[in-house]
Amino acid sequence: MQNLTHVNRNRIVPRLLKWFRAHGRTLPWRGPIDPYAVWVSEVMLQQTRVGTVIPYYRRWMRKFPSILSLAKSSEQEVLRTWEGLGYYRRARDLHKAAKIVINRFGGNLPGDPELLAELPGFGRYTVGAVSSIAFGKDLPAVDANQKRVFSRIYDIRQEVDSPAGDKLIWSLAAAFLPKGKSSEFNQAVMDFGSSICLPRNPDCDACPVRAWCQAYQNGTQNFRPVKKRRGKSPHYHQVTGVIEHHGKVLVKKRSEGGLLGGMWEFPGGRVSRMSSDTIKGAMKNSLGVKITSLAPLGTYRHAYTHVKVTVHAFRCKVDSIPNRDTTKWIRLSRLGDIPMGKVDRLIARKLTNV
Ligand code: SF4
Repeated sequence: MQNLTHVNRNRIVPRLLKWFRAHGRTLPWRGPIDPYAVWVSEVMLQQTRVGTVIPYYRRWMRKFPSILSLAKSSEQEVLRTWEGLGYYRRARDLHKAAKIVINRFGGNLPGDPELLAELPGFGRYTVGAVSSIAFGKDLPAVDANQKRVFSRIYDIRQEVDSPAGDKLIWSLAAAFLPKGKSSEFNQAVMDFGSSICLPRNPDCDACPVRAWCQAYQNGTQNFRPVKKRRGKSPHYHQVTGVIEHHGKVLVKKRSEGGLLGGMWEFPGGRVSRMSSDTIKGAMKNSLGVKITSLAPLGTYRHAYTHVKVTVHAFRCKVDSIPNRDTTKWIRLSRLGDIPMGKVDRLIARKLTNV
């Protein structure tokens, strides 16, 4: 593989760079290098398509135009601005890291990859992407596009999401880096993967490196990359209670560690089957109160990455006023101020007719 890498590298790298100079995407975070802009965009782009990211990125930069403005904001504002992008831990980590950059580095994102790796949210990919794109360091940045491109060029049969497959792709990506041009090369492979070497039906006729692509020679391009088979996502039912009192509604903050960490929701819980007893039991567990009456409000289905949920929402009357550390009463008209997951936002909109 090493000799082959060397031989192909000398042919493939200049062609990908040439292709990028002619066809690279114009994106709002490209242009004069701003490490903060590169950082925000790279975090947003993880698990999310460019087209989805662009309006979020613009809104974010209007709201938090600098690391200082981000560090000074509340977590609630940060999560509300991120709302809808998912994987909320990314937003919380950006916020935590911004505070560290202000306190420890005088507001300038450090260019040293080892220092970057100490910041919250800086895994191997983010360190590689920010170091190479913002600071010109010769480090690989293997995203899903790079995995696909390298797995096809070398017709890799190993699962790319296995430890061995992952290691192999990162080593190929590192071996390909042209010294001093890693910023351009990393972005070239990412853009090439999202424009030509597409997940399904890659445009091999338009491919500038087709002559060296082993998957193309073997006719296996639609079977690469090989990924671990995922089991069917589990599906569960959840009940959610809307409790109103004197023009306010009760909301509960989700714990930081799990799904939708730090977001607000209407209280409730998972049920194994739907019945008035299980609904009452879930509300009792969540709030310690007894439900005295229930009226259906709506049913909502939502698919997260690894789980599907059906949420059954009810208006509830309860026998006492719940008051827990994680709950608060909020005017219906202020529900738009707090960050919520997709289903809870739909319920909130229904309540406020927005
Ligand atoms: S020939 Fe096709 S599969 Fe191979 S790198 Fe080019 S676009 Fe991708």
